[in-house]
Amino acid sequence: MPSANLFELIVARSGRPDQMALETSDATSLTYAALFERSARAANALVALGVEPGDRVAAQVDKSTDVIVLALACLRAGAALLPLNTAYTLPELEYFLSDAEPALTVCRPASLAAVRDLARRLGLSAVESLGAARDGTLAERIAASAPDFETVPRRADDLAAILYTSGTTGRSKGAMLTHENLASNALTLVDCWRFTDADRLIHALPVFHTHGLFVAVNTALLAGATMIYQNRFDPDAVLAAMADATALMGVPTFYTRLLDHPGLTRAVAAGMRLFVSGSAPLLAETHAAWRERTGFAILERYGMTETNMITSNPYDGERRAGTVGLPLPGVGVRIAEPERGAPLPAGEIGVIEVKGPNVFKGYWRMPEKTAQEFRPDGWFITGDLGLFDPDGYVHIVGRAKDLVISGGFNVYPKEVESEIDAIEGVLESAVIGLPHPDFGEGVTAVVAIRPGAAVTEEGVLAALEGRLAKFKAPKRVFVVDELPRNSMGKVQKALLRETLKDTFR
Ligand code: ATP
Ligand code: MG
Repeated sequence: MPSANLFELIVARSGRPDQMALETSDATSLTYAALFERSARAANALVALGVEPGDRVAAQVDKSTDVIVLALACLRAGAALLPLNTAYTLPELEYFLSDAEPALTVCRPASLAAVRDLARRLGLSAVESLGAARDGTLAERIAASAPDFETVPRRADDLAAILYTSGTTGRSKGAMLTHENLASNALTLVDCWRFTDADRLIHALPVFHTHGLFVAVNTALLAGATMIYQNRFDPDAVLAAMADATALMGVPTFYTRLLDHPGLTRAVAAGMRLFVSGSAPLLAETHAAWRERTGFAILERYGMTETNMITSNPYDGERRAGTVGLPLPGVGVRIAEPERGAPLPAGEIGVIEVKGPNVFKGYWRMPEKTAQEFRPDGWFITGDLGLFDPDGYVHIVGRAKDLVISGGFNVYPKEVESEIDAIEGVLESAVIGLPHPDFGEGVTAVVAIRPGAAVTEEGVLAALEGRLAKFKAPKRVFVVDELPRNSMGKVQKALLRETLKDTFR
């Protein structure tokens, strides 16, 4: 059987060797030829450090072009990369390392001593460091290793990565992703979003998450495109890059922050062809404001760590604001009744379920959890609630875990949030359910207001009067300056629930 190693597919589809793969503002840019050569050196370095096919390589490092080199080196060596959020503290890192038992851990140069101590305690051997400026012990090994490496053949269902979920609803789970999962999804995105080697994608996302690592990087590499690679999101730098870029992939906060910038004009965006948003809901208001300012309709898509991308608004047809678009070709999507998984007709809210070559192999070392999240006939239960509209567009209503059940009635937070967000002076809101002695859960709103706005609890409650059925109306409103978000721009409702849990007790 021919090898299904994703790296070989990337090489096969790449174009001119002297085309830029990763373009940075410093000396770390890499052409395709240089990227492949450096990944060969890095693969040799991994092997010298004891990494064998089937092993895991954990990496908690700052964004740099060498993270992509390391990712390709893992594919080439047949190892699974395990990228970790740079925000994790040492105790959190301990959980991930003891759970994953990597053959090699790569950390930032500044934490080398501490991570080596931790690894020793856990009985793990190799720890190396990698810095953003091509510094660190692994960077030295890469530079000193041979430039040729024979890529290890892989089967379609061999692991390519273990990616921990964002931990929005609870403890992060390690999603086991295969070469086929990643390759099939990225090829679909190349097609649907019309990527070619003429594209120049602005890459300003973190690379420890499915969006920045797989959606952006694999789509660009499988098209032979160039990434304008920025180590953090900076609105000035993104606007400057638009002058000779064609596409941007971002989270909704990218777009709201760019809209806050006076430099965003129709002229600045004129050479672009595509703006993609995902990872969290894009407000219809942001969609409209972007269209007004730039002339472009943002293309919103939906996916998750476990399934890669599931739906996308169309490249050609209507990009419907407030929806995540249509199921991607080859990806089965159904809306099911939560208890038994019976499919529901269009217009009815149910749990979103997914089937296809994009769906992961299971949660790392969690066979029971894995079994719980799949129907007996193989559909994966995403945990998101949604519906199909009559034209087949998917609307996400929220997460099943965020559904509030008050006095026996279902309250969909998004519906209440939309009403609150329409109130003058309100920036955005998060509606949660808190333990309540009479109702089971009490509907509670946390409301972020615009700077200087005079919004109060009483004001919000009065404005909602008559607009929502009584059981949906918040029982308490907390006014704040901003909502807590994680690095992917997701509102941390679990944190809000924890902080406010005694409100009604
Ligand atoms: P955890 O599973 O650990 O609680 P998480 O679900 O946030 O964390 P990810 O896999 O990073 O981890 O995120 C996937 C989730 O993000 C989806 O299940 C969905 O709830 C949300 N999401 C992604 N894209 C969109 C979108 N366009 N609109 C609304 N929600 C989205
Ligand atoms: Mg999730």
